[in-house]
Formats: sequence, C-alpha cells, structure tokens
Amino acid sequence: MPIAVPITFENAYMGRAEYNTDLLAELTDVCIEQNVTLGRVEAIGALTKARIGYYDQAERTYKYEVFEYPVEITNLTGNVSLKEGEPMVHAHITVSDENGNAYGGHLASGNTVFACEFMVMRFSGRSLQRSFDETTGLPLWDMK
Ligand code: ZN
Repeated sequence: MPIAVPITFENAYMGRAEYNTDLLAELTDVCIEQNVTLGRVEAIGALTKARIGYYDQAERTYKYEVFEYPVEITNLTGNVSLKEGEPMVHAHITVSDENGNAYGGHLASGNTVFACEFMVMRFSGRSLQRSFDETTGLPLWDMK
C-alpha cells in the first residue's frame, strides 16, 4: 500500500529564468529565496544546450545525454522537498529539436537557458525529507 501524505496548496510564483543561466540552479534559487520546501515546479521555454540524465538501475548511477544545440522545453514537471535540510528540486524534462523529435529524462545541471517561463507552487503539510534508499541507491522520500 503506497504511503501518501495530505498537502494543501498555499500559493504560487510565476517568473522567468534569465538568458544563459543554469535552469536547475535557477529553479532551486527560487525555492530557497521564497522558502518553498514542499511544492511543485513546471516550466516551458527553450535551451541553448541541454543535459538530461538517465538513471542506470543496474549500475546505480546517472548517465547523461548532452545536446549541444538549441532545443525547446516542451515540458518540465517536478517537485520540491528537502534534502539535508535544503530545498531540492527534482524535475524531469522533455525537449524537442527542430524536427520535433523529443528526448526526455532527469533534469540535471548543465541546461543553459535561452528563455524559460516557470511556475513554482507552494504546499503546506508534513515535510518530505530525502534520505538514501538502499534498494534503489537513490535519495528517496522517507515516508516513515
Ligand atoms: Zn529524476
């Protein structure tokens, strides 16, 4: 039986990330600045360069695909919780090239913003803390 905790929507922020910034760092900075520790993020826009992660479940390590050319952000969805007491954005991104081919995965550092419009939603509720999960090797929410 999955364990879920109730959350309540509090408020939201809309903004845009500046040209030539790192997308994950920008989203994380908004959360730190606005003290969002439990939330949701979404974004659309374009990148001059993309770096997308894939978690190799057997090797228990991330592998990264780098796209050294402009792409659209067709979707970015993620959540905000706490890792070692600090807000951590965990997001997945789908990007598309000039032919409309899409690629997606884990939002890593190294995604350079061309233009990006984002939303950050704040929830209240029991805080979700990430801790190392032996089974997957990932920092997952401690639901106990
Ligand atoms: Zn992920």
